[in-house]
Amino acid sequence: MISTLLNYARGAWVAGAGAPAPVRSAVTGEVVAQGGSAGLDFGGMLHHARTVGSPALRAMTFHARARMIKALAEAVMARKEELYTLSWFTGATRTDGWIDIEGGAGTLFTTASKGRRELPDDTILIDGDVEPIGRRGTFIGQHVYTSLQGAALHINAYNFPVWGMLEKLGPTLLAGVPAIVKPASATAYVAVAAFRIMIESGVLPEGALQLISGSVGDLFDHLTGQDVVSFTGSADTAAKLQSHPAIVREAVRFVAERDSLNASVLGPDAAPGSPEFDLFVKEVAAEMTTKAGQKCTAIRRAFVPAAHLDAAEEALRARLAKVVVGDPQAEGVTMGALVSRAQLDDVRARARELSKEARLVFGDIDHVEVTGAAAASGAFISPLLFRADDPWACERVHHLEAFGPVATLMPYRDLDDAVALANHGKGSLALSLFTYDPAIARRFILGAAAFHGRIVTIDRDCARESTGHGSPLPMLVHGGPGRAGGGEEMGGVRGVKHYMQRSALQGSPRTLAAVVNRWLPGAPQPTGGVHPFRMTYGELEIGTTLNTAPRTITLEDIEHFAAFTGDTFYAHMDEAAAAANPFFPGRVAHGYLILSFAAGLFVDPAAGPVLANTGLDNLRFLKPVSPGQSIQVALTVKAKTPRTAEYGEVRWAVAVTDSAGDPVATYELLTMNSYGR
Ligand code: NAP
Repeated sequence: MISTLLNYARGAWVAGAGAPAPVRSAVTGEVVAQGGSAGLDFGGMLHHARTVGSPALRAMTFHARARMIKALAEAVMARKEELYTLSWFTGATRTDGWIDIEGGAGTLFTTASKGRRELPDDTILIDGDVEPIGRRGTFIGQHVYTSLQGAALHINAYNFPVWGMLEKLGPTLLAGVPAIVKPASATAYVAVAAFRIMIESGVLPEGALQLISGSVGDLFDHLTGQDVVSFTGSADTAAKLQSHPAIVREAVRFVAERDSLNASVLGPDAAPGSPEFDLFVKEVAAEMTTKAGQKCTAIRRAFVPAAHLDAAEEALRARLAKVVVGDPQAEGVTMGALVSRAQLDDVRARARELSKEARLVFGDIDHVEVTGAAAASGAFISPLLFRADDPWACERVHHLEAFGPVATLMPYRDLDDAVALANHGKGSLALSLFTYDPAIARRFILGAAAFHGRIVTIDRDCARESTGHGSPLPMLVHGGPGRAGGGEEMGGVRGVKHYMQRSALQGSPRTLAAVVNRWLPGAPQPTGGVHPFRMTYGELEIGTTLNTAPRTITLEDIEHFAAFTGDTFYAHMDEAAAAANPFFPGRVAHGYLILSFAAGLFVDPAAGPVLANTGLDNLRFLKPVSPGQSIQVALTVKAKTPRTAEYGEVRWAVAVTDSAGDPVATYELLTMNSYGR
């Protein structure tokens, strides 16, 4: 059955005009889908995203968007088997499909959970602390992020049609920005199916998502500085798109995730027989063959100490000899096909280029034994391991990407040489180092980190839990400098900010506190008749303050506290030793005693809406308290964040002052407060 690839434009599924372009199965060569996007009103789609999707998403808080993203992930998981069935036509094994489909849903789940835990239930995001500007504290600065008001255009690569779409959609939607997705043609039928699942889930507001199943037409001509292009694909395509006149003229943000010649390095300490040597061999072989090597993060260059080159080659060949190439659905197959015959031709051509300067030590560029399918119709190739004994005499191995199961094994002289070779790829997405010597890891990372977006060190202690060389994770940055495109995606909340504008706000604390919906130093601190511990979460207003009575701290208090807790540190117990200390005039109260007395001053003891104290942030002791001095506390509602259906988190600014009015300690107290009494 041939599926028709529709577009989803302005709230409707529409077919492209003109003759549909066929897409063939990677395994059988048969046409499995066809479609196109000719005739779409691309400018109209952007307008729809900006005028319908954007206002709807921007009206939702980060938490509401996070709940929506979680529901999308659940919808994909509920219908994942439909996607696995289609994924097989792309040449993917079940494991490859798992990375794509469940890995994709996993990034949405993580993004949603980070959105709920790390972002406010609001539409504005604070960036960093208040910057005091005026000496009297009446004029301050505060950085904030707000959602861009345009659309995100996501242009995706073919290799992970689901994951590649979802890892971008999570941060984009969490930022409150609508997206227009353009999947790569070769695997668009999988992306379209996953897209349809999300639309049919019914959780998205109109205009939040649109889809182009073909060329983007004149869409670039309509882009403005409020839009973002997030591109994944080859360096050549990126260069072409990035220099489009509209991108240059309008300063459109362009996130580029390109190819890179990722390296893996066996540490100088990791001799044959060591766990790290075995782990290295396993990882290089796995990275070559997972998804038939069609991974932007795959290891293309494997570096080993010169003395271990032969041993590494032998071990890798033994490992690769176990790979079974064929129909990804056939019993025992461990590596499927490349995505298309065109891709097969491309990989073969590039492998031939590599063979001009490196020796092929495993595999055959033109022949492969295929299990369970006709080799002639599918895009099958064997793993190809090259060896270059003089890496500095080579160019292609460092700069030519063969996007298939292809890697080159090379020696290095010493650690500095290994660093220089790793960096010679001119920037990569991922680098791995196999060493059990932390000093080697530090030296290597200091020399190499500037060239690589992610560095994973693998040793016997972390190997079992390691996610491996080639797995981008939603909580960690994905992207790399130079050759890798200079872009950055994911990385938790960092990824969300690519779709938001950072602005510096200046003004009075009263105004800015109201703008950001949290109390800022210098903003009003109204006091009420009711103790704040008697108020429900909903009743507490930002800025509401309790000023306590003073309490004198006596020498007996200090000695009692010391005896009771066992903290008999000399600064509290020994007058002469304390006075000799540059910080203290003599014996002083324990910091923890001050905190305990502060709690005793502000707590209202009866059972009520305050459910638990969950921690302190940013604690500073600013001035010592000598026996006989008194302290008092100002407790201010700083921010509120809903956590569950029953309770939310209240962040209190606590200021402890002495009788002179000087700050003794400041911190933020976190409590969980119930919505009801
Ligand atoms: P590609 O040929 O560069 O295509 C990438 C995307 O760009 C596809 O959606 C393609 O659409 C689209 N495209 C091509 N020309 C265009 C144009 N003139 N205007 C608008 N869109 C255009 O790359 P690919 O073959 O799909 O993917 C393989 C490459 O991607 C490899 O080099 C790999 O290293 C890289 N990659 C990088 C990452 C990363 O995160 N850094 C991840 C995966 C892959 P059509 O398919 O319709 O032509």
